[in-house]
Amino acid sequence: LAERALRPAGSVVSVSGVDIGGPGFTVVAGPCAVETEEQLARSASAVASAGAALLRGGAYKPRTSPYAFQGLGEEGLRLLARQRERGGLGVVTEATQPAEVQLVAEYADMVQIGTRNMQNFALLKEVGRCGRPVLLKRGMAATVEEWLCAAEYVLSEGNPDVVLCERGIRAYGQETRFTLDLSIIPVVKKLTHLPVIVDPSHSTGSPFLVAPMTVAAAAAGADGVIVDVHADPASARCDGAQAILPQDFERLMEELAPVVEAG
Ligand code: PEP
Repeated sequence: LAERALRPAGSVVSVSGVDIGGPGFTVVAGPCAVETEEQLARSASAVASAGAALLRGGAYKPRTSPYAFQGLGEEGLRLLARQRERGGLGVVTEATQPAEVQLVAEYADMVQIGTRNMQNFALLKEVGRCGRPVLLKRGMAATVEEWLCAAEYVLSEGNPDVVLCERGIRAYGQETRFTLDLSIIPVVKKLTHLPVIVDPSHSTGSPFLVAPMTVAAAAAGADGVIVDVHADPASARCDGAQAILPQDFERLMEELAPVVEAG
């Protein structure tokens, strides 16, 4: 169902009135995790005023350590929805297990599947039936074929609205958290009609790499990016080390504009 030949012009996935795919470049931004109402509001209003189209923020966090902050759960979803009701952006947030999906879908405009769950087939089937667009991150050790098969799990349950997200793969170097595989963008575009975005934050793990990798993603033909922005990264409860400040996000949007315009 994901095969390019079925839709040679490519798919456009609409999320709360925002198109992902087609001629535009969609920027999703916000904190890695929802921590408090004030923290979310600061990040959300900064990214909206700088030109982001959708708000990201995790309420259910798939953490490597069981002792790390696991997210606010439903309270986090409520805060995201409240932010949207106050005139904010549509919301992208993660579901980590099948039992969470319906609840997340009630609050979210797009349901994210994280790298660690790319082959959680029960979860993929559940989001395939949830009635919301799905952001499907690439497994950190997944081949393209495995990634596209994961997308098929969602599509084959009747959900046509799948956006792929390259978020870095495991390699040898310690200089970046993962290796952002930008060469995969044109490859995946050749194979599938699904839109593809890039996560320059979770892939690199370094704020100084977020702007150059965003610009590079646009130049490589990606349909957008998803970026971590936090007003006070030092106090962040989750992945503060990779978050960029609102003023740096604003600069990034300025740098990105001519590249997007150039097509
Ligand atoms: C995230 O986007 O919040 C996240 C945990 O990303 P990933 O699954 O790519 O690590």
